Amino acid sequence: MSSAKAPRTRDIGIRYPGLKPPETVCNDKKCPWHGSVRVRGTLLVGKVVKAKMQRTVVVEREYVVWIPKYMRYERRRSKIHAHNPPCINAKEGDIVLIGETRPLAKSVAFVVLGVLKRAGEG
Ligand SMILES: [Zn+2]
Repeated sequence: MSSAKAPRTRDIGIRYPGLKPPETVCNDKKCPWHGSVRVRGTLLVGKVVKAKMQRTVVVEREYVVWIPKYMRYERRRSKIHAHNPPCINAKEGDIVLIGETRPLAKSVAFVVLGVLKRAGEG
């Protein structure tokens, strides 16, 4: 009968270069490492452009689309809301890996899995 057990860092089954489990433990239910959300679907890499919400960040991603008529690539960008658990605590400017989950809020269906590069590093 251990209903209120302390969260432990789980193996989320995702291997990605530069991705390490967080060093601290949190008790956020929506944390992929310590909570109950499961990551499935897409993995994306982007840059945190806004970290002003509580436990949510805006991640911007730039990608190219081939336009056959002009035989050229077009640059596009998109912004994705992602849950930012306290054990990861991504800040503006960080390059993060985000994974798709179930909808966590009206506009949030991704969660930050880890920071690949902190802002201002290298
Ligand atoms: Zn956590």
